[in-house]
Amino acid sequence: MSDPTVQPVPTAVVEQVDAADVTLSNPKRAVIALGSNLGNRLETLQGAVDLLEDTPGVRVRAVSPVYETEPWGVEPGTQPSYFNAVVLVRTTLPPASLLERGQAIEEAFDRVREERWGPRTIDVDIVAYADVVSDDPLLTLPHPRAHERAFVLAPWHDVEPEARLPGRGGIAELLDRMGPTGVDPREDLELRLPE
Ligand code: ATP
Ligand code: CA
Ligand code: CA
Repeated sequence: MSDPTVQPVPTAVVEQVDAADVTLSNPKRAVIALGSNLGNRLETLQGAVDLLEDTPGVRVRAVSPVYETEPWGVEPGTQPSYFNAVVLVRTTLPPASLLERGQAIEEAFDRVREERWGPRTIDVDIVAYADVVSDDPLLTLPHPRAHERAFVLAPWHDVEPEARLPGRGGIAELLDRMGPTGVDPREDLELRLPE
């Protein structure tokens, strides 16, 4: 039997409900790592921060200092060094949509994917999304190598010293355990938090 108190649903509400599979009602915290080792690295990092903030459903809460890092996983001296930074956001986008947006930002900076860990104008990695743990190869959460990367942990620690990496523990301890990190704080450079 139909419930007489239920009103017909207006079209606008139906559309909102349809959008519900790409939008969450309460914002989640996410940590995003940026890296650039081609072109104007600082300008590109800032551009990526600005595009994140321009994303509907994404609010940039903090932007870390910039670190300079030797490329990871490749023969030393064969690629320019990276500028790395970490961005803390609050987002109503679910993880897959946030990843998609990160990939769209990479495309906006003409990132070319040729070799694994090859040079790139910008790399946007989702380090962590709330307390989500997932081994999906398309979006592994937390990022499967974040806990062993000083170029992620050091800038993240600067903006959120008490943070924990789900399943891995406190980032301060992870950094401590790592010993000499090989990442250089570039105190002469700065990224702006978008207005
Ligand atoms: P690494 O993952 O070691 O940092 P990379 O950033 O160079 O290497 P990419 O070529 O940028 O690797 O990404 C390869 C794939 O990794 C992407 O297509 C994406 O689907 C997948 N991926 C899995 N987990 C994540 C994550 N947490 N953040 C970003 N991409 C991820
Ligand atoms: Ca990466
Ligand atoms: Ca990546």
